[in-house]
Amino acid sequence: MKTFGLTVAVTLWGQSLMAEDRPVVHHYFSKTPHEHAAKWGYSGTTGPEFWGKLDPSYRLASSGRQQSPIDIRSRQASVAELPELKFDYRRERITTLNNGHTIQHNEAPGSFLHVGDDKFSLEQFHVHTPSEHTIDGKHFELEIHFVHKSKSGQVAVVAVLVHADEKAELDFPLANDLPKKPGEIAEVEATRNPSDFLPRSREYFNYSGSFTTPPCTEQVRWIVMKQPIGAPQKYIERFATILKANNRPVQKLNDRVVEKSK
Ligand SMILES: [Zn+2]
Repeated sequence: MKTFGLTVAVTLWGQSLMAEDRPVVHHYFSKTPHEHAAKWGYSGTTGPEFWGKLDPSYRLASSGRQQSPIDIRSRQASVAELPELKFDYRRERITTLNNGHTIQHNEAPGSFLHVGDDKFSLEQFHVHTPSEHTIDGKHFELEIHFVHKSKSGQVAVVAVLVHADEKAELDFPLANDLPKKPGEIAEVEATRNPSDFLPRSREYFNYSGSFTTPPCTEQVRWIVMKQPIGAPQKYIERFATILKANNRPVQKLNDRVVEKSK
């Protein structure tokens, strides 16, 4: 809580959560594929430009002023003393679920993220192809979202950008046996620590945004890791073949400020 900007942002999140009639509940926290208020997708008449009109509960998708993803202008981001990130994730067997919108791993309790003094539990992680956030207008081949929740209901998502790199040492067993059809579940033989999918550097961009899928709920604390990770193209392609393009286009920044680690 060292910078003025951050204190204000955290206070606002706290206030809006308290003012909220219902807690921030979202299929991001559902452990099974389930019914949505309205069917939505990434193309045609249920594509992102129509989300706000598909159901009253999705209205923030068109009226929200703090929507995600965004294009991060790295040089315009304001330098700040951001709280340190500590990933306390546990090694586990990775099971992936195809929920019709993404390929997702639901986390067993016991993995945590500390952002300064704030503690969040890791709920799940999932992927988008290509990336949802862009850096200086540039997409990456893939983006991983680690979705966390605090005891008070605050949501923090860590985004890791992935680019194709044939020399990447990252062993990506997840990609070998992916669930191809909605509702399908696949299990990886080996155990993994989800932190294997994090970059070495803990520097990040910080801003207040929303879920990138309906109902596009706001007051999400976004932590976009500055350093991308590499993965061989063939692994990225396995995700892309199944997911096609499951990225929401970038949204207006409006009056928000993006902060970056010193
Ligand atoms: Zn996501």
